Amino acid sequence: MTLTPILARMSADMSVRVRYAPSPTGEPHVGNIRTALFNWLFARHEGGAFIVRLEDTDQARYEEGAERAIFESLAWLGLDYDEGPDPSDISRDIGDRGPYVQSRRRDTYRRHADQLIEAGHAYRCYCPAERLDQVRKDLQRRKLPPKYDRHCRDLPDPPGAEQRLESEGLPCVVRFRTPLSGQTAFHDLIRGDIMFQNDTLDDFVLMKSDGFPVYHLASVVDDRLMGISHVLRGDEWLSSTPRHVLLYQAFDWEPPAFAHLPMILGPDRSKLSKRHGDTAVLEFRERGFLPEALLNFLGLLGWSLDDRTEIIDRETFVRSFGLERVLANPAVFNFDKLTWMNGVYIRELAEEALADRISPVLESRLGTSVDRGLLRRVVPLIRERIKLLTEAVEMAGFFFVEGELDYGEETLLGKKFAGDPGAAAHALEAVLGRVSALQPWEHGALEGAIRPLAEELDLKTGALFGLIRVAVTGSTAAPPLFETMAVLGRERSLERLRSALRRLGP
Ligand code: GLU
Repeated sequence: MTLTPILARMSADMSVRVRYAPSPTGEPHVGNIRTALFNWLFARHEGGAFIVRLEDTDQARYEEGAERAIFESLAWLGLDYDEGPDPSDISRDIGDRGPYVQSRRRDTYRRHADQLIEAGHAYRCYCPAERLDQVRKDLQRRKLPPKYDRHCRDLPDPPGAEQRLESEGLPCVVRFRTPLSGQTAFHDLIRGDIMFQNDTLDDFVLMKSDGFPVYHLASVVDDRLMGISHVLRGDEWLSSTPRHVLLYQAFDWEPPAFAHLPMILGPDRSKLSKRHGDTAVLEFRERGFLPEALLNFLGLLGWSLDDRTEIIDRETFVRSFGLERVLANPAVFNFDKLTWMNGVYIRELAEEALADRISPVLESRLGTSVDRGLLRRVVPLIRERIKLLTEAVEMAGFFFVEGELDYGEETLLGKKFAGDPGAAAHALEAVLGRVSALQPWEHGALEGAIRPLAEELDLKTGALFGLIRVAVTGSTAAPPLFETMAVLGRERSLERLRSALRRLGP
């Protein structure tokens, strides 16, 4: 990996300004937010500015509500920005180089397109859609790449075009006059020197007939006007970069530094997509991931501290992040590793903090309010056993529900008592007799009372404990039995044992 030191670290008078430029075409997914994270880390490490810009010029792909999901994802992960749309009202801006929403910058793009036309770097193309279709089909039939045949490139504007453009808007697009020969080269901070042959590039469209710019023009103009020093983006944009470099040259502007981040693959090594499972950032929140765990995981998708360290907190990331350790090879999104990492972060949280995280999850899933004092006593029982916040619902929801638990006789009897409800009832009666008046109600005393009972009843401890576990928790998977009963309390434990007994009939 070769690096041009001047570009890797800007001189003191050129401050780092980077941007995250999502298109509101849907909820941001993890690949996209990894780009946001690397930009944020780079800005914070360098003491520069992190800018958010909404690229909403493709009206056909716009999705209602996408902006909200973008801002919520950034906020959830703690990726604060210095300039961008005001999330509470995106018609307003934070920062003075806005607007930061491209649909509000259409005059700017129009002006710049006109400037290119005047300088001879762009031209209006009046070809009707049917003609372009025909050209495309002919080329496809000849197995050639479907490029525009440059029909309008050297034709004068049709008669009266100027006036009609003014008065009614002509159905025309603006195309870039791409050089017919030669090469366009640039340096990528991650991939090194890259070169494209100009004759492989089309006379690409800059402005569409609906008056909206195409990504290439909007992106270059905005990066320039917003003073972007480094463009860090996913490597699917690498093939756009020669077009951007040509635009910078046509405007006679110095291009920013470019760094294309490695692709993210699913566990099967194909490009990460919905097929591999949930990929939208907010779905990870929904599924019980902690933002700090997801941040840690995403930070290692294509960057490493030292090839070994897995658990890295936000401050260490900011302190250590640099483009020199971004890898060119694709990164694999390993869901199991992320889940493991989440478990590590859960165990690292202080009990009070973990209770704060679990409480809203329980409340929304159980549809009931959660007693804080009880939750504080439950947390130590489950923190070593859950890898996702949502697992607290299955593992400990029974502490918080009132009334009858929802389980069937089959679950209660399990394999050990299947077909013999009488034996199960006998055992439960014995347990009730042993613990009803137990003093004190704490786990050592409970164990001291119940464990010997197994032998007296001629049962395996597993069989007896399993039966009691279902009776008091409604489930076969729960925290350790005696601690659970201790926290649940005498009244509720006895009530649940009696309820189980009733279910087994007389
Ligand atoms: N709007 C593009 C996207 O959705 C931005 C590409 C770029 O960063 O230049 O990813």
